[in-house]
Amino acid sequence: MVELPRRWYNIVPDLPAPPPPPLHPGTRAPLGPDDLAPLFPADLIAQEVSTEPFTDIPEEVREVYRLWRPTPLIRARRLEKALGTPARIYVKYEGGSPVGSHKPNTAVPQAYYNARQGVRRLTTETGAGQWGSALAFACAQFGLDCEVWMVRASYDQKPYRRSMMGLFGATVHASPSPRTTAGAKVLADDPDSPGSLGIAISEAVEAAAPDDTRYALGSVLNHVLMHQTVIGEEALEQLGEAPDLIVGCTGGGSNFAGLVFPFLRGKLAGGHSPDVLAVEPAACPSFTRGRYAYDYGDTAGFTPLLKMHTLGHDFVPDPIHAGGLRYHGMSPLLSHMYELGLFRATAKPQRECFEAGVLFARTEGIVPAPEPTHALAAVVEEARRCAATGEAKVILTALCGHGHLDMAAYDRYLSGEMRDHDLPEGRLDAALARLP
Ligand SMILES: *Cc1c(COP(=O)(O)O)cnc(C)c1O
Repeated sequence: MVELPRRWYNIVPDLPAPPPPPLHPGTRAPLGPDDLAPLFPADLIAQEVSTEPFTDIPEEVREVYRLWRPTPLIRARRLEKALGTPARIYVKYEGGSPVGSHKPNTAVPQAYYNARQGVRRLTTETGAGQWGSALAFACAQFGLDCEVWMVRASYDQKPYRRSMMGLFGATVHASPSPRTTAGAKVLADDPDSPGSLGIAISEAVEAAAPDDTRYALGSVLNHVLMHQTVIGEEALEQLGEAPDLIVGCTGGGSNFAGLVFPFLRGKLAGGHSPDVLAVEPAACPSFTRGRYAYDYGDTAGFTPLLKMHTLGHDFVPDPIHAGGLRYHGMSPLLSHMYELGLFRATAKPQRECFEAGVLFARTEGIVPAPEPTHALAAVVEEARRCAATGEAKVILTALCGHGHLDMAAYDRYLSGEMRDHDLPEGRLDAALARLP
């Protein structure tokens, strides 16, 4: 059996050029570590700007990882058979974690480094509820209080995620909430706002102002992507053959980066060169239809300016069921790598994704979360192409979470009520016109 990794991998020093720096929202000067100190503990800031390729994983963190890691790499033979494909499909499954997704891989070290610095309380936002439950679990491991702003649409649709956060000891508010200036402002304009990750981030950042409180982000940032590389490091050991194609879904990019970065290490050093594909929702297509520009990470404009593929900081995506993929921006590091041509991206409408999810559940017996069904839809498409051409490609994907709490979404798909959302060019243009 594969060993639990001892180090996280930072891809930045291996890139031909470093990513553009975040800018201060007021002065527009490159951000220094001091600017981040009110939000994050020193160790995480150091990781955020690190140029070291490897960081040792603290033993206290490895002890918690051992509750569910190493995670299985599954050869999806029954899916291959159903598709009649000569392709070999491998799935790295993160659904066995305490909250059923990859998110605890970063929540645990984030809570650990905050606790070590004497922080008492963490605030955060959550879309579908996976990140909020992961941070709630992690805070419980290290004795921290946890306060979560949950996007209203999910708060109403996903009561069990809310329950899970409460069970792990967190306090949960529906966002937009009247508890923050940012939330109250949105509610004044639109009392029925379904919320968005951008709005919830504004609220959680605002609530992190007290001295004993810090903020935690579940995706997008460099240190988060680095923590997730435990996924790819294990897969690299487990796979035993070189993948031709690696596919992942992208919301802010962390599970994709976590799987892919260790495989790109060889490619960047001039070795084996896998084809890599990011899959995003057609209703929130930051790579494929967004602009590569400096934008805020949140709706209210509290965060630093990040150079990323963005749909505009006040773009509110349609309420698709893959709540974890409803973010207007994308990791700046991945955005930079996309510009460097290190991987491709495509967008999928949700019904095609659920079709792949149902096929996967019926063949392999695992119900995928709506987010990774985006990756599965692209895998199925490629495997069918291989069936037609006879190519025996090796395909690797991250099944980054299970869908046991997403049965309402599967019900809608199975009853034929689910629809795809068009995203007219005009709506995008309007949001992009408001870039800072
Ligand atoms: C949060 C989440 C995502 C999206 O976040 P990334 O940072 O892009 O990985 C995707 N899938 C699941 C199961 C999630 O919980």
